[in-house]
Amino acid sequence: MRRITLRGAELEGFEVHDPASYIKLIFPEPGQLEPDRPLPDGPRAKSMRTYTPLALRPALHEVDVDFVLHGEGPASTWAAQAALGQKIFLMGPGPGYKLDQAAAALLMIGDDSALPAFETVLAALPDAVQAQLLVEVTSADEERPLAGASHVQWVVRGPDNTQAGRALEAALRARGPIPPGTRIYLACEAAAMRRLRSLLTTELAVERSRIVGRGYWKLATANHPDHDYGEDD
Ligand SMILES: Cc1cc2nc3c(=O)[nH]c(=O)nc-3n(C[C@H](O)[C@H](O)[C@H](O)COP(=O)(O)OP(=O)(O)OC[C@H]3O[C@@H](n4cnc5c(N)ncnc54)[C@H](O)[C@@H]3O)c2cc1C
Repeated sequence: MRRITLRGAELEGFEVHDPASYIKLIFPEPGQLEPDRPLPDGPRAKSMRTYTPLALRPALHEVDVDFVLHGEGPASTWAAQAALGQKIFLMGPGPGYKLDQAAAALLMIGDDSALPAFETVLAALPDAVQAQLLVEVTSADEERPLAGASHVQWVVRGPDNTQAGRALEAALRARGPIPPGTRIYLACEAAAMRRLRSLLTTELAVERSRIVGRGYWKLATANHPDHDYGEDD
């Protein structure tokens, strides 16, 4: 992953209220040095992608974004080469995760693309909520301290993205029962999210209403929608 700080006077007044909110970023098209400015009634930019505003410093007009460098794709390609002074556009924010203030425990399960979202949830959680995380990264080098978590389990996918979510499934099965009342926030590759949710509701007997599922990206699919809540099954 690569953390990039976006700074611009046009971020004056930019605020984010919910954790795990999203922003839309517009990257240059091939051959462009900077993207076209989006217009309210203009066409949707082809190279617009969805990211998490990880940290805001309003006085400095700054937003930090962590990019998974997964290879081909306007966002990942741009993030891999980004240098001081380059321009992209930022729009948003869109809605995030509604915390259940009454829940005693939250289990967040996901991959590296959701790690920034999980960090914003951790930062917003009341002290009384026990937060556990199960996170899949491509390499153990990507593991990092997560403030506010009572327990973090890292699992490693390796370089083959077709295996997305498999290490999470194995780790979840090995974990055993999930305490009743635990809320679950699940965000990762779209098919993996559906498999993990099914594992939770069948083998681990978690009520579906306790699970919030988000498909953050989809194998072999560019520009997966920002609102894949897995409601198609
Ligand atoms: C609400 C929300 C918040 C998000 N926040 C973040 C964030 O903070 N940081 C972040 O890195 N991502 C985040 N994502 C995921 C990000 O939007 C996608 O990974 C996006 O597809 C990246 O765009 P791209 O231009 O790099 O690749 P695309 O052009 O969309 O895809 C090109 C190819 O790359 C593959 N691909 C895309 N993403 C990944 C990945 N993560 N790992 C492996 N292969 C991939 C696709 O399957 C496709 O084959 C978020 C998604 C959502 C819905």
